[in-house]
Amino acid sequence: MKRGNEILALEAIRPSLDVERLREDFPILRRKVGGKSLVYLDNAATTQKPRAVIETIRRYYATSNANVHRGVHTLSDRATRGYEEARVRVARFLNAREDREIVFVRGATEAINLVAQSFGRPRLRRGDEMLITVMEHHSNIVPWQMVCAATGAALKVVPVHGDGELDIVAYGERLSHRTRLVAVTHVSNALGTVNPIREMIGMAHGRNIPVLVDGAQAAPHVKVDVRELGCDFYAFSGHKVYGPTGIGVLYGKREHLEAMPPYQGGGDMILRVTIERTTYNEIPYKFEAGTPNIAGAIGLCAALGYLDDIGREAVAAHERELLDYATETVGEIPGVRLVGTAREKAGILSFVMEGVHPHDLGTVLDHEGVAIRTGHHCAMPLMDALGLPATARASFGMYNTRAEVDALVEGIWKAREVLL
Ligand code: PLP
Repeated sequence: MKRGNEILALEAIRPSLDVERLREDFPILRRKVGGKSLVYLDNAATTQKPRAVIETIRRYYATSNANVHRGVHTLSDRATRGYEEARVRVARFLNAREDREIVFVRGATEAINLVAQSFGRPRLRRGDEMLITVMEHHSNIVPWQMVCAATGAALKVVPVHGDGELDIVAYGERLSHRTRLVAVTHVSNALGTVNPIREMIGMAHGRNIPVLVDGAQAAPHVKVDVRELGCDFYAFSGHKVYGPTGIGVLYGKREHLEAMPPYQGGGDMILRVTIERTTYNEIPYKFEAGTPNIAGAIGLCAALGYLDDIGREAVAAHERELLDYATETVGEIPGVRLVGTAREKAGILSFVMEGVHPHDLGTVLDHEGVAIRTGHHCAMPLMDALGLPATARASFGMYNTRAEVDALVEGIWKAREVLL
């Protein structure tokens, strides 16, 4: 009896998703690919969009389109309000202290480039070090290589263990009196590893080293609280959280953003311009030169609203279940080896099949209507470290089902028959 009550109590607190119902919110999921029902398992590359987002963008262009922060007319006021409401929504999503700590950018890539150029470059000198990990996406490697090349600073790298977990001991050893900045991914896009970033930020801050977190793969799966994390910067992309492409977010602590020079010059980022000199606008506008992606920000606001209505805990629990199920069923297929088996993972299953190139596997799966990603996943240094040219990667979103994992497994069996 007691056990029964415990189960009931557990069920009461455990959030659950009505996946079949929420799938109806995503028009694209009804389409066929090559005559087969689409099974979309490439969510780490980009997520599909719910009707709430599509309709919000359509409505914005149909009823409110105007430029922001400039006009005194009604439409400009509406557009400005929509754009600024989006900022408030993002600040709440990340639990930022202030709305002005949210800068709208094109995506995680631009957010990282902004920090590299405006925060990293002026601070780094020859003899200094910049610390990243080997599991970074290229967008959290190349901007730092560029800054290091320009300043003479050295780029240091934290290795991973064979299972895809970060070597936290090596991380501690590489934090030195020379380290000026740490940039680390919250969740690996190639392996799904969730890094212990709270601990990593604590270790860096113990030495007064600021930390940028690349949250492109975390924001869709993990509840992010920048105040609890204490990170100095946090970057993510709208299109990976069910929002539109071309819009993303840089969170930065107010004191950093205020001290940083602008990244680009142009309209909106100024207070006054004479030919001799320019007085820059306040944050966040100082970093938003030119007409921003207004429809994108408003669409992102709708996406975050949708995600919060569904419940981020419920989404995370559902994806966890799918990942566990896929790990078990894909892992049982003869010749398949899972790549990345860290204890903490989020929504991503990378694997290779003996004797089969991942691209061929991806092509056979596509014929079955199953969309996965194959290749180096913009993480070539990680692939090199693991001794692999490429992997196949299935990544889950809120609308995926166990039946779709079954379709993936069947497709892999089929690929074995066809390709081996
Ligand atoms: N960081 C990680 C971990 C990613 O997975 C990605 C995209 O896949 C990015 C950064 C870059 O995101 P975007 O191309 O949207 O700027």
